[in-house]
Amino acid sequence: MDYERFFAETLGGLKSEGRYRVFADLERKAGQFPLANNYRGDKVEEVTVWCSNDYLGMGQNPKVISAMKDAIARVGAGAGGTRNISGTNHYHVLLERELCYLHRTEAALLFNSGFMANEATLSTLGSRLPNCLLLSDEMNHASMIQGIRFSRAEKKIFRHNDLAHLEELLKQEEPGRPKIIVFESVYSMDGDFGPIPEIVDLAKRYNALTFLDEVHAVGMYGDRGGGVAEREGVMEQVDIIQGTLAKAFGTIGGYIAASENLVDFVRSFATGFIFTTSLPPAIAAGAFAAIHHLKHSTAEREGLFSQSARLKRLFGEAGIPVLPGDSHIVPVMVGDAKLCKQASDELLTRHRIYVQPINYPTVPRGEERLRFTPSPLHTDAMMDRLVDAVVDVWGRLNIKKAA
Ligand SMILES: *Cc1c(COP(=O)(O)O)cnc(C)c1O
Repeated sequence: MDYERFFAETLGGLKSEGRYRVFADLERKAGQFPLANNYRGDKVEEVTVWCSNDYLGMGQNPKVISAMKDAIARVGAGAGGTRNISGTNHYHVLLERELCYLHRTEAALLFNSGFMANEATLSTLGSRLPNCLLLSDEMNHASMIQGIRFSRAEKKIFRHNDLAHLEELLKQEEPGRPKIIVFESVYSMDGDFGPIPEIVDLAKRYNALTFLDEVHAVGMYGDRGGGVAEREGVMEQVDIIQGTLAKAFGTIGGYIAASENLVDFVRSFATGFIFTTSLPPAIAAGAFAAIHHLKHSTAEREGLFSQSARLKRLFGEAGIPVLPGDSHIVPVMVGDAKLCKQASDELLTRHRIYVQPINYPTVPRGEERLRFTPSPLHTDAMMDRLVDAVVDVWGRLNIKKAA
């Protein structure tokens, strides 16, 4: 086997399809979000970032930064161990308590990322609940799919947000069989919502647990940033809420919030929780500050939704094809991998606007898009400039406009 040739040829395939991933080399400017320096070849240019998941700019919030600095000064850089062996710092304990308050659950458990929270929790529950069946929305994130796969439990996929299909699958099972319905509150590529109250209802009728990924909602939805389940008034009825500290909370890490026994069970059996060094305490301190701030301050959420609505309206008026939806995410459809990459390149080189192309397998083929994430810190002037730039690039590349 010529290993090097195999790697190079496989990568060549990605390149010829136009979906080889090129990372933008960025230096985010603290205090000037969404501005960043972009290193390209021998050039450094200031760009406006339009595709960050730091949805509220909390990664640069002064309270978050100072909480992290204070924590480093007090306890140093790293945690120094796994949670079980010297790596539980008081900052982790405080953060887990804050997450319980946020989601009004008995307990919460931190993981090193949202990805790990999904993978570890689902693989543990799926493999340890006897004869468990996992019912998974077809649009679920890769981390849930991986957790389900690792569990080796039986899985059934229901059509996206299709309650009738989900019920049909539930009906086929013995009432006593353990079942978990796995879904999301905001699907981040299309920006649509999962029907949480209806799924909770079905779960009760068929004696299933609900596992809800609120990664793209925590901090942003609900009166206190508890997520879409909070907004819909059903937060207490979801069995397992999973979230991230890396998006609206601006830092890194993931978590689940659930009953005392369920959390203790995952804590005791999940290898992806047990056998890894815990998060740096300063991260826990920063995330705590972000959650606490967003529980009381609504300005960020109001800014997010007004800027998102404004961008959708301006794109609509300019004939730029926005995928309709009520969430904060603004997906603009291109429908071709190479064209999508070209549009992104032109925005960067001609207009110093950075938005990453989203291609297969993140979205289905033919649904390639640019995914814009306006924040409260994107000004009207930045947005007006963005819309002009997108109109210019759509014209240059002759990309299809909205009907
Ligand atoms: C980003 C994402 C995750 C993973 O969260 P990280 O904290 O970034 O690891 C999980 N689920 C969904 C739906 C996501 O988009």
